[in-house]
Amino acid sequence: MTERLYYHDAAVCSFDGAIVAHGVDVQHAILDRSAFYPTSGGQPHDTGTLNGVPVIDVIDEDDRVVHVLDAPLPLGPVHGEVDPVRRRDHMQQHTAQHLLSAIAASRFGWETISVHFGAGHSSIEFDAAAGDAELHDLEVTANGAVSAARPVTVSFEESAGALARGLRKAPTRSGAIRIVTIEGLDRSACGGTHVSSTSAIGAIMVHGVERVRGHSRVGFLAGDRVLRHLHEREELLARTAEASSCAIDELPEIAAKRQTELRVQRERIETLEREVATARLHALVAATAPDSDGLRRVVYRSERDSPTLLRTMAQDVTTLDRVVFVATLSSPPTVFFATSPGTGIDAGALLKAALGTVGGRGGGSPKAAQGTVTRPELLSGVVDRLVG
Ligand SMILES: [Zn+2]
Repeated sequence: MTERLYYHDAAVCSFDGAIVAHGVDVQHAILDRSAFYPTSGGQPHDTGTLNGVPVIDVIDEDDRVVHVLDAPLPLGPVHGEVDPVRRRDHMQQHTAQHLLSAIAASRFGWETISVHFGAGHSSIEFDAAAGDAELHDLEVTANGAVSAARPVTVSFEESAGALARGLRKAPTRSGAIRIVTIEGLDRSACGGTHVSSTSAIGAIMVHGVERVRGHSRVGFLAGDRVLRHLHEREELLARTAEASSCAIDELPEIAAKRQTELRVQRERIETLEREVATARLHALVAATAPDSDGLRRVVYRSERDSPTLLRTMAQDVTTLDRVVFVATLSSPPTVFFATSPGTGIDAGALLKAALGTVGGRGGGSPKAAQGTVTRPELLSGVVDRLVG
């Protein structure tokens, strides 16, 4: 059995004890007493060292705490050091969760279904569809409780009758249970690590909410994470503003202006491409002599044009007389094929057949069709089949 030092004092990060047994191997150390918190109740385990050897995982195994080590340690005395930064962070997140759950229950009647403490982000699932105004209220009230510096204490009480003594939720186990009390606000059965005054939470920020089937998963940040988050966002905004050559405050206006400019440019490009397509097609047709059957077979190979431009050229062919038109684009390897009335050629059927010989795909109407091949080298073989 391991005496859990964090049960009585979550501030203890340095301790002495002994390895009294090994688990599945000598890298799994079981101690007589330990300050290491094992993964449980949604809270991740502590990290740190035992006699200088890194503790990489901590497992809750009934009445024993198993320390998974980076290297083996023999039975005997050990000195333990829990990473104080990670511990403090978990204490802040966990106590903030108690506060949020308690305030949500008392103000809105929301019950906490589950909690999750992530490396960057924590969340509480409530049994209700949380509205924006309620979440704002929750955040403001929680921060009021933080600045009120309410004491957070731990007691051990009999499970029977605990609900009648003001416990927020019915205990899941019988016998002696550990109860965490936030003075005047909350009493919850919990085995986790918490700060000793709500003021040590620093700040609480509701951050993102997902609503699923009448439930809400409300994300939050607490303590040092709030400041870190603000600095990261500030940095992100500063970089975005720099890239946009404006001040941070001007970003919304600049972004909206750029969107409008982009739309106008796009429309202008479309108009120009239509004009270029018509002019280029007419020039190509004029420069191509008719074959003996009276058809002008125009082949246009392009490296850089937009697919839209080539498609427009192909569509314009249908307004001409006795013209067969093939255009290719090397990247992505694409073929555009069109025939004008009077040629008697079904563009869709012929292109489909030509593509089939090289494993390409595509098709279209009897007047205009389009297809792709897997490699640009295959394009000339398709062209030969269409106009050869
Ligand atoms: Zn707790």
